[in-house]
Amino acid sequence: MFSDTVSPTVKLNDNNTIPQLGFGVYQIPKSKTYNTVSTAINMGYEHIDTALSYGNEEEVGKAIDKSGKPIFVTTKYFNPNPKQHSYDNAKEHFKTSFDNLGLKKIDLFLIHWPITKNKLYLDAWRALIDLQKEEKVKSIGVSNFTQNQLTELIEKTGVIPAINQVEMHPYLQQVCLRDFHDRYGIVTEAWSPLGRGKVLDDKVLKDIASHYGKTPAQIVLRWHMQLGVVTIPKSETPHRVEENIHIFDFQLTEDEMKTIEGLDRAERNGPDPAEYVFPEDFLEKRKK
Ligand code: NAD
Repeated sequence: MFSDTVSPTVKLNDNNTIPQLGFGVYQIPKSKTYNTVSTAINMGYEHIDTALSYGNEEEVGKAIDKSGKPIFVTTKYFNPNPKQHSYDNAKEHFKTSFDNLGLKKIDLFLIHWPITKNKLYLDAWRALIDLQKEEKVKSIGVSNFTQNQLTELIEKTGVIPAINQVEMHPYLQQVCLRDFHDRYGIVTEAWSPLGRGKVLDDKVLKDIASHYGKTPAQIVLRWHMQLGVVTIPKSETPHRVEENIHIFDFQLTEDEMKTIEGLDRAERNGPDPAEYVFPEDFLEKRKK
């Protein structure tokens, strides 16, 4: 392992730490997950982001276990059906994820999406608080939560999520939400940090990349690192997995950071959490 592949860590509000660069496994087929995650760990990744709904927790767990390394693992509670989503359901899903992963511990458990009907995310959040109190999980947080939903969680339970994992990349920079997170000591974690590859043809990023002899993907991930956000790029292509971790041997200037800031155009790839309501049978349909 090269020294330029060692990620810094970020401190969470519960005093645990998380490696700032992780590896996401959304849409990596079950059959490819063990090898892909093993390759990523061999290259130096120390943090894997999965979810029950990705259907590959077992293979993630096996790859981590086989590595013998203390890899930080995140998984998530997601049940878009308001008739089922509840305190008990969140605890049951945690147990399923824990068994699927087959590891001694889960480092971070997130509510995957806020289920807005009857504010069910409050019940789920209470379950996560208890799971942490029972020492079944080290850190707890949320994903795709808006400022209003975060405010409500905090006011109603007094427990501030350690992390909010949200879509973030140069075309969707989440400036207001990050500012809110900073005020409350919530770490911002970026999903789709490369905008699912769509930002990588940007001329501004290509120009900065050629200056450093790096790729646009490396420039974007370096930008995330310098903003202090945690980030979890995904790739199934070994040379890209490797490229995405070689980002610790150079530094963007303040001017370059400002130039990238100028690319923001509030452009989402995923649904807008402030408006989107998942169909109740979303998971069942996806399995077919
Ligand atoms: P991403 O921005 O990481 O983009 C992944 C795609 O970018 C790859 O499939 C590949 O096509 C391309 N790519 C990756 N590295 C590249 C490189 N070096 N050069 C050129 N192209 C490259 O998008 P993502 O997969 O949507 O997000 C990353 C992770 O975030 C997921 O795997 C998952 O763990 C997490 N996620 C979470 C949520 C949530 O709701 N919490 C939603 C989506 C994703």
